[in-house]
Amino acid sequence: MKIGFIGLGNMGAPMAQNLARGGHSVTGYDTATISLQGVGSASSATEAVDGAEVVVTMLPNGDILRRVAAEIIPAMQKGAVFLDCSTVDVDSARAVAEMARDAGLLPLDAPVSGGVGGAQGGTLTFMVGGDEDGFEKAKPLFDIMGQKAVHCGASGNGQAAKICNNMILGITMIATCEAFALADKLGLDRQAMFDVVSTSSGSSWSMNTYCPAPGVGPKSPADNDYKPGFAADLMLKDLRLSQAAAETADADTPLGAAAMALYAAFVEEEDGAGRDFSAMLPRFSGRGRG
Ligand code: NAD
Repeated sequence: MKIGFIGLGNMGAPMAQNLARGGHSVTGYDTATISLQGVGSASSATEAVDGAEVVVTMLPNGDILRRVAAEIIPAMQKGAVFLDCSTVDVDSARAVAEMARDAGLLPLDAPVSGGVGGAQGGTLTFMVGGDEDGFEKAKPLFDIMGQKAVHCGASGNGQAAKICNNMILGITMIATCEAFALADKLGLDRQAMFDVVSTSSGSSWSMNTYCPAPGVGPKSPADNDYKPGFAADLMLKDLRLSQAAAETADADTPLGAAAMALYAAFVEEEDGAGRDFSAMLPRFSGRGRG
């Protein structure tokens, strides 16, 4: 397949390279000059999408996606798949999908879970919104870039799944870190705490797979001085997206709001910027109730 790929950052670059290694003809474009082995390089977004059967975008946010979409949609060939893998707000995903559908394209919002490691290893999970025919056309590409693609329904539902998942993740990480800090002060050994909780009803991905306590559980960013991993800044971005969506949908999400406020303080007023999102544990450990 002939593929245009726009946004060759930490995630986009390895995804584009995996598609090229999978035998597809990939032409990439990024506002930063990035050249990748096996991936053709275009001098503009419209050049990258020229004649492409599928265009993939992997961009920082909804505003940038809307701008790029307005530029490339008129230049894309009818019947092509517009596959946006960025994490953006549900409203932007739906607005871009409508614009693409009006132009005779097959839009899919397909944000990912799995991080940079998953992008490099081709083991991402895709959560996909859009029509069935677009999903079927993109399926061979999901199989190359990831290990699982779930069709979540109409346009925007992929982003809805992503922000709901990450709202749970932010809340459970905070709960896990709070509980470790409390356990420390009660004199409970961290290994004992892990051994109990990871096999009890308090278990979660945050405890079992991505344990925020160094030296306990499987290797995680806690064992690497809390270098990301998944940066607290990105968790804050996703929690803001879920709170904005909750506001629009009139959904009551008090723990999501509390998690957003804690990550905002951590990133913007404390020392959380650029640290892994599990660095909430040393944050709680260093504090008392007052
Ligand atoms: P990144 O900042 O490394 O990459 C974004 C790229 O987009 C940059 O190279 C930038 O130059 C380029 N760009 C910006 N504006 C552009 C434009 N107008 N035209 C073309 N290129 C443009 O970010 P990333 O980590 O690759 O993340 C990309 C998306 O994936 C984000 O929406 C993020 O939330 C999501 N995501 C990231 C992770 C992660 O662990 N990094 C995990 C899951 C999802």
